[in-house]
Amino acid sequence: MDEKEETTLAVGIPAGRLKSFAVETRDDSFSNELRKRICDYLTDFQLRYDEKEPDIVISVGGDGTMLQAFHRYVHRLNDTSFVGVHTGHLGFYADWTAAEVEKLVISIARNSFKIVEYPLLQVAVSYTDGNKEASYLALNECTVRSAEGLLAAEVLIREEKFETFRGDGLCFSTPTGSTAYNKGLAGAIIHPSLASIQLAEIASINNRVYRTLGSPVILPKHHHCQVRPVTDERFNVTIDHLSTLHHHVRQIEFVVAREKIRFARFRPFPFWRRVRDSFIG
Ligand code: NAD
Repeated sequence: MDEKEETTLAVGIPAGRLKSFAVETRDDSFSNELRKRICDYLTDFQLRYDEKEPDIVISVGGDGTMLQAFHRYVHRLNDTSFVGVHTGHLGFYADWTAAEVEKLVISIARNSFKIVEYPLLQVAVSYTDGNKEASYLALNECTVRSAEGLLAAEVLIREEKFETFRGDGLCFSTPTGSTAYNKGLAGAIIHPSLASIQLAEIASINNRVYRTLGSPVILPKHHHCQVRPVTDERFNVTIDHLSTLHHHVRQIEFVVAREKIRFARFRPFPFWRRVRDSFIG
């Protein structure tokens, strides 16, 4: 396995392009100590610490820290790239170890690198009470549940009724999120070069009265999917690690986002190797 699998998405960047940086940590003492070392080293290399407009964000912690970093800088995805250092087990978004921090810092300051772009999920919530549509980007997934108890919702694909879902909830994931919650729902693992969204059921009710497809569905980037309430217009919506209760929901629409997340690759980090090392060992 080598980097070739990612080359359709990769763009080469010459050394010296990164002028400013920020560090996001899990906020434990070890990650914070690493953050200090990274800041000292990069400042010595004449890079500027800029929490507002960083060229690169270094996430130090786990996958959850990268989710945090993504949401902090979601408004500047065209100008910021991300790289992850893991302080626990190997992460899907973090390939550098704490022991390699010096090597990473030198790479950031001195080496050319590749930018790899991965697809995101666009979520738009519209309301029946005239409230303005709310729009979100997810790096891993969006889940929809009822405010309390069973979720009853119509699922439409390209505006056409597909099924009425009854159960715990629905999970819409990105390709990179397919190894997260989606995997626990027996969803397929999707390579990030396939711009798509995957819909997986969370404990659907299937009997003589209620029927859903029962299999995960993968939609291409030009198809969108909508979820509409059957009776209760309150939906509990998670976007990655963030959760919000929405009232008076008319519809939630899911589509592959136009925006992408950019990861800075200073060395190969092939997807299937990540899958193998994380789940098979
Ligand atoms: P966290 O950082 O503790 O993450 C939870 C676990 O999910 C960690 O083991 C992490 O490594 C793993 N993870 C996160 N993103 C991943 C990815 N893209 N591929 C493979 N593993 C991944 O806690 P958090 O910050 O609250 O993380 C939120 C994420 O947790 C959600 O985006 C969701 O994917 C995941 N989650 C999973 C389940 C489940 O599998 N039953 C349930 C709820 C949430």
